[in-house]
Amino acid sequence: MSVRKPLIAGNWKMNLNHLEAIALVQKMAFALNDKDFDRAEVAVLPPFTDLRSVQTLVDGDKLRIVYGAQDLSPHDAGAYTGEISGVMLAKLGCTFVTVGHSERRQYHREDDDLVNAKVLAALRHSLTPILCVGEGLEVRQAGGHIAHSLGQLDGALRKVTAEQAKSIVVAYEPVWAIGTGEVATPDDAQEVCGALRQRLAELYDPEVASAVRILYGGSVKSANIAGIMAQPDVDGALVGGASIDAGEFVKICRFSD
Ligand code: PEP
Repeated sequence: MSVRKPLIAGNWKMNLNHLEAIALVQKMAFALNDKDFDRAEVAVLPPFTDLRSVQTLVDGDKLRIVYGAQDLSPHDAGAYTGEISGVMLAKLGCTFVTVGHSERRQYHREDDDLVNAKVLAALRHSLTPILCVGEGLEVRQAGGHIAHSLGQLDGALRKVTAEQAKSIVVAYEPVWAIGTGEVATPDDAQEVCGALRQRLAELYDPEVASAVRILYGGSVKSANIAGIMAQPDVDGALVGGASIDAGEFVKICRFSD
């Protein structure tokens, strides 16, 4: 039996200012009955500008919701205008940081080398990377989805030790399912998540493979979360659009509609 605690992480993308962030986290914590809720670890990933406000609320009200950022620089400090480092995120009490999200790969041309450098930067500062991998529609239609996702995993984990690898989270996010309403079937999600776990066993060992949490992401909603969570190699969800609706996100955290 798996000892992996499910993780539901909300990627707010570029939505909500710091006041709206406070309102959303308050609503979410209330609806979740935060102090007693134990079914999953719940994380929010707001824009950088909201993090300090979310930190103050979470610390002040002793909420169990954890938080993180949507990206980080591969560098720790220096002349990198516009960048935010892992040092800064750690200081703000972040637990997680997404790395290699398909929107970063697509709009900012992030390749496997940069994703790898960001994974290493996160680990240097004890942040847990949520490493996103997943294929586009053409690759899926050509049947290359598993090879593509495994290739991204291999590329992102170069120079990551077994001890470090145990702590990371991997998110399988087929690009054709992100923000499209086109959710992968539970079997599709299991197929790739299972293959990713198998690859972790090959790259490291079975202990690492069974420790790593693997999430599914792509148009997750309260209506489809139960089927996804029933898969043996799916340990949670990375939720985009539905994560900025407190009622819907809380239902997802409860695995129900
Ligand atoms: C995401 O942004 O990681 C995501 C999965 O988005 P959505 O749930 O909106 O498809």
